[in-house]
Amino acid sequence: MELQHSISLKPYNTLSLDVKAAYFVRVNCIADLRAARQFCQDKHCPWLLLGGGSNLVLTQDFDGLVMFMAMDQVFWPAEKSLDRISKNFIVSVQAGYEWDLLVEESIMRGASGLENLSLIPGQVGAAPIQNIGAYGVELKHCLGGVQVFDFDTGEEFELSSADCEFGYRDSVFKRHQCWIITQVRLLLSRDTEPKVSYGIIEDTITSQLGKPAISASPQQVRDAVIHIRRSKLPDPKKIPNVGSFFKNPMVSNGQKQALAQQWPGLVTYAVDPKKHKLAAGWLIDQLGWKGFRQGEVGVHEYQALVLVCSGSATGKEVLDLAKRIKADVAVKFGVTLEIEPRLFDNRGEFYL
Ligand code: FAD
Ligand code: NAP
Repeated sequence: MELQHSISLKPYNTLSLDVKAAYFVRVNCIADLRAARQFCQDKHCPWLLLGGGSNLVLTQDFDGLVMFMAMDQVFWPAEKSLDRISKNFIVSVQAGYEWDLLVEESIMRGASGLENLSLIPGQVGAAPIQNIGAYGVELKHCLGGVQVFDFDTGEEFELSSADCEFGYRDSVFKRHQCWIITQVRLLLSRDTEPKVSYGIIEDTITSQLGKPAISASPQQVRDAVIHIRRSKLPDPKKIPNVGSFFKNPMVSNGQKQALAQQWPGLVTYAVDPKKHKLAAGWLIDQLGWKGFRQGEVGVHEYQALVLVCSGSATGKEVLDLAKRIKADVAVKFGVTLEIEPRLFDNRGEFYL
């Protein structure tokens, strides 16, 4: 393990926040994780694992070891093991592999399942953490299992998809922060119907192809997703952001009805007979936050759920804006917004 001292994390997080790590290391193999664990025990210092840094807010210099996940091998099935009858396509991928590269390559190899999750930034190993989801598909729909390194005990073990306790932007890993995912197994298929019922996906494919969306190939679905994303989401390389800053809140039937009476046009989606999802972006937009700017931070002009900042903002400025929006939504709608990205100070994770 090659230890570095006092390293800026600006290139390692998509908000481009300029905080320093007291110690920094690239993790290339399990042995590096073991060495890092020993180092933290000897120094009695905290640790933090970074993937692509696209779902976290770093608010202070970190007084411990920051590890960048760099294990990035992919184990594709051998062509001869893919017989003509079986539709299954199983791929194992180490945690540090770039998520969207995997999506692109799986489609090129004739496998479907990941196309709706195109262009999500970050690494494969982080995808199970919040059960990444977009356009009607979640990671849980194609995850076979994961390999884990427990940073507390040094043990290695496997978890099945059921063990991961996936929920809406949630998994068991949010409750076991010492579990580091080192490898992910995905169950893809060579012959599935595209998932195109999400309104804008269906409309875009139909208008681009001039035929029913259900006949689209995985590549055509990917092209549509990329087209939609590029038209409304800021590219973090140009405008620092972490995607959606808040989760979509869930409300009861009664709450939904009361809100809909007060706010005509309220955007809701039924989750089950008793629960509805509210579009958090719609709530924020109604209160006039879209396009808001103050100093180095603001709200994206096309998507009110995305907070943006200049390359010189601080994590505190980003969080102050998030708190103001959260308070405004609570007062006007009586709804509590939950922050989606993970928040870190000098010693570790904290919650707002
Ligand atoms: P990081 O930000 O590096 O880490 C996030 C958290 O996971 C941290 O707590 C970290 O310690 C932990 N972690 C990272 N890797 C591991 C590991 N191997 N083992 C254990 N813990 C780990 N998310 C969606 O769900 N859907 C979207 O459509 C979506 N779109 C986005 C669009 C944009 C423009 C941006 C900027 C973000 C978007 N996101 C989306 C959020 C984000 O990209 C995902 O959550 C992504 O999976 C985070 O990956 P990462 O490697 O950047 O994780
Ligand atoms: P959108 O299409 O404008 O829709 C707004 C919200 O309504 C979404 O958050 C989505 O919930 C919900 N929604 C829309 N159509 C739906 C349907 N047919 N069924 C159920 N729910 C529906 O959203 P967007 O901001 O442009 O994002 C598009 C997709 O990419 C969404 O799935 C979103 O989650 C994902 N995305 C996520 C992030 C992130 O950082 N987490 C960032 C960008 C985009 P869901 O969010 O539950 O799908």
